[in-house]
Amino acid sequence: MREFDLTPLLDLLPELLAGRPLVVLTGAGISAESGLPTFRGPGGMWEGNRPEDLATPEAFARDPEKVWRFYAWRLEKLRAAKPNEGHLALARMERLLPRMTIVTQNVDGLHAAAGSRNILELHGTLLAARCTACDRRFPAPESPIPPLPRCGACGVLLRPDVVWFGEALSPVTWSAASRAAEECAVFFVVGTSSVVAPASSLALLAARGGAYVFEINPEETPLAPLAAGVFRARAAEVLPAIAAALVRKIP
Ligand code: NAD
Ligand code: ZN
Repeated sequence: MREFDLTPLLDLLPELLAGRPLVVLTGAGISAESGLPTFRGPGGMWEGNRPEDLATPEAFARDPEKVWRFYAWRLEKLRAAKPNEGHLALARMERLLPRMTIVTQNVDGLHAAAGSRNILELHGTLLAARCTACDRRFPAPESPIPPLPRCGACGVLLRPDVVWFGEALSPVTWSAASRAAEECAVFFVVGTSSVVAPASSLALLAARGGAYVFEINPEETPLAPLAAGVFRARAAEVLPAIAAALVRKIP
């Protein structure tokens, strides 16, 4: 296992054990090692389109079959994917600490699959679909996914139960996430390029509220100046090292 200097983080452990919260914001990077491509990294193109151009209400209105083909491709990949050491380490940490929340931009359900419980999914989930007419939610269609999946209740077109670019986040989920960021003692930002608002503003809220922000990302991001600590490494190598250090430190 690669060694990391965890001292600045472990110095904060007494606060966490005393019940101050840890909040972990995750993005597509944490699932890269489960074989799910990020939008901006390699493999981010699909049929010559940028995902940002397909994950919009306008694209769905124009060509719902194409958008469903994109989501069917992602869903098939997801159904073959498993949580990696990064997801598993976060689930282990949640069992060790009195208060921990994961706020994720991911729609892949891998935090829950890893055993995490306290999860806020800012961008919805690929594992569900909802009716464009009656708003009922259903589990995502089984494979082979039909070209235009329809509502079991009213027969109208279903859409993926995700938040597209240009759509509002659920106000309930967002207010829970921003409150968690404001109140936490320690805030991790893992595998997100920190360019997609409003999730990118959560780290700012946390820092303003006095939290120590730690970033885990192999690449530079605009967040670094805000961070009390930066780990330029993969989530699946840093998070297990942190979880192992907590196990050693917690009596
Ligand atoms: P993003 O903006 O979260 O960027 C990905 C980041 O992950 C980059 O900064 C990259 O340097 C970093 N990264 C890559 N490999 C990593 C690793 N092994 N460990 C840690 N960090 C790593 O994500 P995006 O791809 O630009 O997507 C934008 C939106 O689409 C977000 O809402 C995102 O969550 C969503 N999306 C979700 C999934 C998913 O659910 N798995 C996949 C693609 C995109
Ligand atoms: Zn319906």
